[in-house]
Amino acid sequence: MPTTDAFYAAIRQELESIEQAGLFKTERVIASPQGSLIRTADGKEVINLCANNYLGLSSHPEVVEAAHRALRERGFGLSSVRFICGTQDLHKSLEARLARFLGTEDTILYGSAFDANGGLFETLLGPDDAVISDELNHASIIDGIRLCKARRFRYKNNDLEDLREQLKAADAAGARFKLVFTDGVFSMDGTIARLDEIREICDEFGALLGIDECHATGFLGQRGRGSHEHRGIFGKVDIITGTLGKALGGASGGFTSGRKEVVALLRQRSRPYLFSNTVAPCIVGATLKVLDLLEADTTLRDKLERNAQYFRGKLGTLGFDVKPGDHPIVPVMVYDAEKAQRLSRRLLELGVYVIGFFYPVVPKGQARIRVQISALHDRAELDQALEAFEIAGKELGIIQ
Ligand SMILES: *Cc1c(COP(=O)(O)O)cnc(C)c1O
Repeated sequence: MPTTDAFYAAIRQELESIEQAGLFKTERVIASPQGSLIRTADGKEVINLCANNYLGLSSHPEVVEAAHRALRERGFGLSSVRFICGTQDLHKSLEARLARFLGTEDTILYGSAFDANGGLFETLLGPDDAVISDELNHASIIDGIRLCKARRFRYKNNDLEDLREQLKAADAAGARFKLVFTDGVFSMDGTIARLDEIREICDEFGALLGIDECHATGFLGQRGRGSHEHRGIFGKVDIITGTLGKALGGASGGFTSGRKEVVALLRQRSRPYLFSNTVAPCIVGATLKVLDLLEADTTLRDKLERNAQYFRGKLGTLGFDVKPGDHPIVPVMVYDAEKAQRLSRRLLELGVYVIGFFYPVVPKGQARIRVQISALHDRAELDQALEAFEIAGKELGIIQ
């Protein structure tokens, strides 16, 4: 009798080879809310340096209370997609508020930023068009572009000369519309895209510019509006995608923001919007509170900026190889995947929670510890973490 045994054996073998290569990702279990300190499942309290909780809003009392209120007043779930019976007043308010915050005309919510990117390109572009995409763009952008029939052009990371070459190639191929798309911030390096110059080049070629702002919305730029504000082109980006799952409270949900007609067409045709459930009311209510807080003053993003500068500077002084930049993502380069794993394990023993990143999340031989600073961290916590880095770094021969 034929069996499916071979299939399961092949899967087990694949898992083994991942493990043998030292690339197996284990999920550590935490047993507390998200915060600057978290409790691991074995009861240990550690400093958290790997959350996207940039502004410390994931467990902010006012945000949690707003979620409770929405839960009481609008219920737990809507059991519907948006166009059937999944749109509440809260959803419309949040879409309008996000558009104002980002300097656009309108916004459409998705279940995640992954979905926002997944449902973007196919809806807006056809076989006569061209997408020109940064080579380090997030997986969800790559997948979204795969789903669409436009011609694909890829330019070297943040490389304006190559961008120009690819735009010329798109013109030579007779592209009707051209969309340049880039992460506003590259999440593995903390690099901020050179959007001011990219915008100029796009204008020169009559191309649209789209950015993914997952690691920027809420804290980059003087008012925290994002990398477009940071680079001085607020109000001049055609399409912005982003997440509610990072700085804006960290639950889940995503969005696409831009011109009215673009958002209107996405509501008609974007598949992850049409065929997936609406964002839960408590997330929407809480995110409205987040925007209230961020529009009221810039205390949180200012503290985040100071914390990040401090930690970067000190790590460099200790002798660590830190990728330069001014984003709260602080990549500590280790290069070797197993060493990065050993460093993160040792740091955990020393009370610091960080994760080693290695292939396939970053290129082979580019393993690193990605530290992420939060506005929640106080100076004592940062100093304690730096001390642990010094001890572990010396033990493993990463620093002298
Ligand atoms: C985190 C992230 C996403 C995915 O966001 P979700 O809302 O969690 O799906 C997409 N793009 C970039 C650049 C990200 O960093």
